[in-house]
Amino acid sequence: MTAKKESIEERIDRLHAGRIIDLHFDLPMDLYEKRERGNVLATEFLHELEAWYIGVVGVAIYIEDRYLPDAGLRVALDQIARLYVETQACSQFAICKSYREIGNALKDDKIALLITMEGAEPLGTDLNLLRIFHELGVRSMGLTHARSNAAGHGGIFASSGSLQDGLTEFGRDLARECEALGVIIDLAHINPAGFNEILSVTTKPPIVSHTNVRRYYDIERNINDDQIKRIGERRGVIGVNSVLVSAKEEETTLDCYVDHIEHIANLIGIDGVGVGFDFFEFIYSQWPESVKQRLAEKLTTPHFIPNLRNHSQTRNLTRKLIERGFSDEEIEKILRRNWLRIFQEWL
Ligand SMILES: [Zn+2]
Repeated sequence: MTAKKESIEERIDRLHAGRIIDLHFDLPMDLYEKRERGNVLATEFLHELEAWYIGVVGVAIYIEDRYLPDAGLRVALDQIARLYVETQACSQFAICKSYREIGNALKDDKIALLITMEGAEPLGTDLNLLRIFHELGVRSMGLTHARSNAAGHGGIFASSGSLQDGLTEFGRDLARECEALGVIIDLAHINPAGFNEILSVTTKPPIVSHTNVRRYYDIERNINDDQIKRIGERRGVIGVNSVLVSAKEEETTLDCYVDHIEHIANLIGIDGVGVGFDFFEFIYSQWPESVKQRLAEKLTTPHFIPNLRNHSQTRNLTRKLIERGFSDEEIEKILRRNWLRIFQEWL
C-alpha cells in the first residue's frame, strides 16, 4: 500500500498550521476612527485573521496629516488605548512585547499583535517619549512615513527627487536609542540618504517591514538592489508589500508579487524575505472620492492584487509559491520563520 499523495490544498494547510506573520497592518488607525463603536476587533477582524491562520500581525500606529502637529501624540496614545481595550474584550488576541510572549500566544492559538510605529511624529523631538511608547508595547519603529519629520525624510513616490539629507541629529539619536531599548528598526519609507545613515548608526539586523523592489516599481519609496544587499549583509528581513508591486494596474498580479519575493531571494537568499502585506483596501474603500484623489496627487493610486487583497486570501499566495517551485522550507521562512528570527534577536 502506498501513502496517499498530499494534495496542494493539504500542503497549504500543513504550511499554514505553524501560522503566518504579517508585519504591516494599519489596524490601530481603523480602531481609532471607529472608537465610538467598540468591539471592532471581534466583529470586523477576528474571523478573517483567525480563519486564515494569521499568527502575528505588526499593527502600525500612524498619524494622518490632519492630526498633525498638535494632536499627534494624543492620537497615538488613543490608538494604543484602543488596542488594549479591544484586545481585553476579545481574548483571542494578545498584545505581545517579547519573543517569549509571541511564542506563548502562538502556542495558545492566539493572534499576537506587535505594536509598531510608522513615523516618529508622536515623539515630536522628545527622545524620552520613546521610552514611554516602549513601556506601552511599541516594539518596532519606522522613523518616517512619506513626509518629513523631526527625525528625517521619507522616500518619495518617484524614481528620483527625494531630499538628499539624511537623518537629523534627533533621528540618529532615535535610531540608536531604538536599538538600545529593543525596538526593531524599520527602514520602510525612509529616503535613500536616511536609509544609509540608519544602517551606519546601528548594528542589529534591520527590517523593511513593507516595501517592494525598485526593479519592478521604480520609486524611491521602494528599495533598489544595493539597498537589498545591504539588508542582506546585516542578516535583516524585507517584508514584501502587496500594494506597490507595479505602477500599472494590469501588472499588479500575484505572479508579480512573487517576482518581488524571488528577486530579493536571488540577491540575498531566502532568509531575507518575509511578508508585510499592508492590506489597506478596507481603509481605502471607506474614504470619500476627495480623499482618494488627494492620495493620488500626493503619493499614488494604490493597485490591489485581485486575489491577494486581504488576509483571507493568503492561501492564494502559498499556492502560487508552490506552483513557482518554492520548497516547504522556503515557504515557511517567507511566511513565518524569518520574522521569528528577527523577533528572537531583538525582543
Ligand atoms: Zn506604509
